[in-house]
Amino acid sequence: MPLLELEHISHAYGRHAVVADLSCALAQGAIGCLLGPSGCGKTTVLRAIAGFEHIQGGDIRINGTTVSSPAVHVPPERRRIGMVFQDYALFPHLTVADNIAFGLEKSAATARRSRVAELLETVGLAGAGGKYPHELSGGQQQRVALARALAPKPDLLLFDEPFSNLDVDLRERLSLEVRDILKQSGITAILVTHDQHEAFAVADEIGIMHEGRIQQWDTPYNLYHRPANRFVADFVGQGVFLQGDVLNAREVEIALGRLSGLIPTDCGAGCAACGKACRVAVLLRPDDIVHDDDAATQAEVVAKAFRGAEFLYTLKLPSGERVLSLVPSHHNHAIGEKIGIRLDVDHVVVFRNA
Ligand code: ADP
Ligand code: MG
Repeated sequence: MPLLELEHISHAYGRHAVVADLSCALAQGAIGCLLGPSGCGKTTVLRAIAGFEHIQGGDIRINGTTVSSPAVHVPPERRRIGMVFQDYALFPHLTVADNIAFGLEKSAATARRSRVAELLETVGLAGAGGKYPHELSGGQQQRVALARALAPKPDLLLFDEPFSNLDVDLRERLSLEVRDILKQSGITAILVTHDQHEAFAVADEIGIMHEGRIQQWDTPYNLYHRPANRFVADFVGQGVFLQGDVLNAREVEIALGRLSGLIPTDCGAGCAACGKACRVAVLLRPDDIVHDDDAATQAEVVAKAFRGAEFLYTLKLPSGERVLSLVPSHHNHAIGEKIGIRLDVDHVVVFRNA
């Protein structure tokens, strides 16, 4: 049985429908993520799970027990859920140790002290218990918030954009550390964020949210290589769509040559039946286009971005279409220059309607 199940939940603020028929499930110990653009309803879903919003349709179950439905509403304090917010929400007048102990009010003083010491150790802040929040960096404050949320041993931890206030380097480091801490504690967690690097660094499974629904719930690898629709393909990673003509149920032709892969079934079947080439959109990621001096196809460099180890080139094909290509940065070509390219596509992704 999954630890958390959302089944067809919906929520509106007045007449503004924000979450529409959203479903997902998370196994014990897994880290899930809701990833989507700002305003798509991520925080609303998190608040519904925590019990701060009353949902209007569907069911939220924790360990098989319904905690939210139009008829049932278990109050937040009885859900055994911890939360970590973007702004840390620490009590400024309490020490780090007292902040962490806040959720442990009812236990004996010695048990509390040892639990706080254990948590400080877990989040890498041993010895900082006597400090006040303002004496700590943003990253350290977020560790305290994590320790405080972990203190009462909740069944589920919810994170709302927890690293957004940190600078990029720290964000990446802390997100990996938080993943380690969660995995060590064996706790089940849901992160919501609009930042895919953060989502990829922390989560086992990610749901891409758009217009109040989950467009695809999958591993980071599959979201990138096997996006379920054009929104997911656009939102996750970089890439362009080229026009393609379906040749048969397994092959599609684009300006750079022929690709074999899974053609949408309705389209492939239609082509086999009518013999006409359907027009489709073929996704090409920057790693699908390889620079090769000996390649027959020449493409013009129209833009370049230095990435350290690589350049991200924007290239114009003879057809006029543009593609992106990641090229080792010792291949330093000028804008306007023509360079040889070839396809190296492992996962062919095709959508209807070019
Ligand atoms: P996200 O976290 O993905 O940015 P939110 O869940 O915060 O999205 O918000 C989704 C939509 O619901 C937005 O259009 C937002 O303006 C609206 N919204 C959020 N909270 C409220 C509220 N308390 N009352 C009315 N509208 C709200
Ligand atoms: Mg939000």
